[in-house]
Amino acid sequence: MRSEKKINAVAIDGPAGSGKSTVSRKVANKLGYTYIDTGAMYRALTLKIMEKNIDLEDSERIIRESGSFTLELQTSGMSDSTIRVLLDSRDVSDLIRDPEVTRNVKYVAVVPEVRANLVKMQQKMIASLDGSVMEGRDIGTVVIPDARYKIFLDASFSERVERRYRELMAKGNDVIIDEVAKDLEERDNSDYRRAVGPLKMADDAHRLDTTGMSIDEVVDAIVSVVHGDRGGK
Ligand code: C5P
Repeated sequence: MRSEKKINAVAIDGPAGSGKSTVSRKVANKLGYTYIDTGAMYRALTLKIMEKNIDLEDSERIIRESGSFTLELQTSGMSDSTIRVLLDSRDVSDLIRDPEVTRNVKYVAVVPEVRANLVKMQQKMIASLDGSVMEGRDIGTVVIPDARYKIFLDASFSERVERRYRELMAKGNDVIIDEVAKDLEERDNSDYRRAVGPLKMADDAHRLDTTGMSIDEVVDAIVSVVHGDRGGK
């Protein structure tokens, strides 16, 4: 029989550009919960594969690497939207956001055994915490199906492209908006269509369309769900 005991966590899923990272971090700060960015884990593993010049199609080697890397996610002392990511004790926080890493994550994220290893790491983190906000693609469906709160963030494709474009330009990447749209479309295809751990809204999740909403409005809407005063003010 399935246990009815809920885990004290907020599972936040959604496609690229839906505003997950900034929003999740702020929600965690407001609630006093620990923020966990699972995308950073897939990105860090991808970076490791690239740096070791492992063929991105060589799933056997990728599986082996996924079972043997150490990762630390630090949030304390950081600004509202950033975290520090240590891969095998090295700070790779900026490197994992490189557009080439972003493009290559799909090769790593599609391998079922890799996902199983990362999901295990994520579940271990959750088990050690009382109160967490975990964001990704499969959090409410696979990683914490018993999460007390589940949110699915979405936004129109054009708004997601616009957000991503602004984010990249702000970081000094000279990008063309059509290229950003193409990359996002490819990422969506791969995230929604993979056989294991696809991006999917859990049946019991609250869907929030963030098109036209400010970050603070989205944060408040999620905090309201957690505080149980939906429809509140
Ligand atoms: O969230 P972020 O854009 O940093 O994630 C990078 C990539 O990592 C996603 O496009 C997705 O392919 C993968 N990912 C995943 N499962 C998660 C989190 C991220 O497959 N739980």
